[in-house]
Amino acid sequence: MGKTSCKITAVLILISMLLFAACSPSDSDPSKGSTEESSATRATKKIEKITPPDKGCEIRFPDRDVYDYTMDLKFDPAGQTIGGHVKFDFFNDSEDVWNELCMRDYPSLFDDMNAYALRVKDSGGITRIENIVDSRTGGVDFERDPGDKSVIWIKLGKALAPGEHTTLTYDFLALIPSNPDRFGLAGGIYNITNFYPILAEYVDGSWSHEPYFNIGECFYSEVANYHVTIEAPEGFVFATTGEEISSVKTGGKETFKFEAPFVRDFVFSASEFFEKKTEDMNGVKVNLFFSKDKPAEPDMTGVTDKCFQVADSSLKAYGEAFGKYPYGELDIILSPLKVSGMEYPNLVLVANEVCHDHVMVFEPFDQLENCLCHEIGHQWFMGIVGSNSGAEPWLDESVTSYTELVYYEYLGGKVFDDHIQGYRTEDRDLKQIDRDKEREDGILEENISPYLDIPYSKFPTDAYYTAYIYDTGKAFCYQMEEACGREEFHGALRAYVQRYAFRNADTGDFLRVLFGCVGQDNEKLNGLVGNMLRTQP
Ligand SMILES: [Zn+2]
Repeated sequence: MGKTSCKITAVLILISMLLFAACSPSDSDPSKGSTEESSATRATKKIEKITPPDKGCEIRFPDRDVYDYTMDLKFDPAGQTIGGHVKFDFFNDSEDVWNELCMRDYPSLFDDMNAYALRVKDSGGITRIENIVDSRTGGVDFERDPGDKSVIWIKLGKALAPGEHTTLTYDFLALIPSNPDRFGLAGGIYNITNFYPILAEYVDGSWSHEPYFNIGECFYSEVANYHVTIEAPEGFVFATTGEEISSVKTGGKETFKFEAPFVRDFVFSASEFFEKKTEDMNGVKVNLFFSKDKPAEPDMTGVTDKCFQVADSSLKAYGEAFGKYPYGELDIILSPLKVSGMEYPNLVLVANEVCHDHVMVFEPFDQLENCLCHEIGHQWFMGIVGSNSGAEPWLDESVTSYTELVYYEYLGGKVFDDHIQGYRTEDRDLKQIDRDKEREDGILEENISPYLDIPYSKFPTDAYYTAYIYDTGKAFCYQMEEACGREEFHGALRAYVQRYAFRNADTGDFLRVLFGCVGQDNEKLNGLVGNMLRTQP
């Protein structure tokens, strides 16, 4: 996800300058040793040496079993519903016996939880989920978690043993709120994301179900192959995860088929007003969708040229640094949103500013460029390598905010000089403490964590979360690059992507690959990691 609003970027930078100061480790914190102790501890644990893959290496789809979702969907724009039948083939990939399954149903949160949704007349509602059948035992019941209506507990009639496969079928009908957001209708554009009941992630003996929040993500799932059919009224243009295989028109309806291999979610945007422009970028079809009804410019050439330039440079810069984009398509949707952008597999939503009546304004293009290269960076850090974005947001958002600098490094020259200001070691001391300022900002000292690798719930305010995760985290990653050297750091990130491609990773995994690549005797790097991360490799 992009930052909350371009208007507050300057404020955020100011806040984050102050927060860098506030977020240094306290000597009195018993959970944390000094930098020297951390370095010493790290030095005693030998990490397996890793040789990074070559620059611009391929990222290949894995030759292993993954989950499989077959969805036959009906999209009813007039009734503002999305629903259908799901056939979910999966297996127990843990070492524990599963007596129950945890699924997430995010649309139900728009019933009343979403503060924005309450301000509009069609505020969504509880998803109808029915006819859940386990192919081994027949019909099974479910209940919603009393503390979080997006959490669905399915009691299995027969436990699922480690490695055992089964098929779950179910029907659902979700309501689409009128809401300029990642899930909702605004300005004639339907953003249909996180919309179907999806299996949660089972980690270390329990089901992960981080709470949903508006300005970040809690989404966490396994990679799967998706086979999706969508029936819609004729005249709608679709942007989706994966690729369109066919479309058939009959009786005022059009039925589309999509295939999306090795993705951790399937989403789409649809509109009667979409204009679609396509460019081939070294074998990747980049599709840009924008509203003809309310265009940001009369002929849209400035915006479309900019978007294609950013996509091209991002794919090249990230392809070289982290490994080539492995999918056939990337869709960019210019849409009203409450945030600057949002990432999904093979698809990014980008807004600059929502103005009156959803007419979008993009010029000058700096914000658009920054947001788009950020969301495309997520294709590697979220899409290809997954992580628990609610529990460890830094691994998702800080690392992706750093990819912005990889993009500007690739462009080079003045644009890089401008964007690197404030992130270098010489610009910011991440250990500096300014408790007075922190008190002036009204944040209690005991509510401040010195670490980046903490869950969203541990941040005292959304502004603090945004400033720390997006901006301090970006500086932290850039300073790791400075400590390692650009080529070495990019090599480590390539090795991380290669090792965890189409899997989920955590901070420990990241650090083991980093130190495995660059060694454990880099005092600058050891000091930085020791100061900023609670997790040790
Ligand atoms: Zn993001």
